Amino acid sequence: MMNCKSATQLLSQAQDRKLTFIESTSVKLHTAMCKGCRNYGMQMKQLSDLSKRFIQPEPRS
Ligand SMILES: [Zn+2]
Repeated sequence: MMNCKSATQLLSQAQDRKLTFIESTSVKLHTAMCKGCRNYGMQMKQLSDLSKRFIQPEPRS
């Protein structure tokens, strides 16, 4: 069972690279049981969605 520090580290790394099968499985297992890290993961995802939208150039005619 991984600890919260490793879980949050992997959650933030998951925005920049693809996690290995073992890493993503461990993170999923941890977030299934840990509310704090689950919230952290959701925040990371929302942030990355937001920044992707922000970076995308607006279509101009
Ligand atoms: Zn945790």
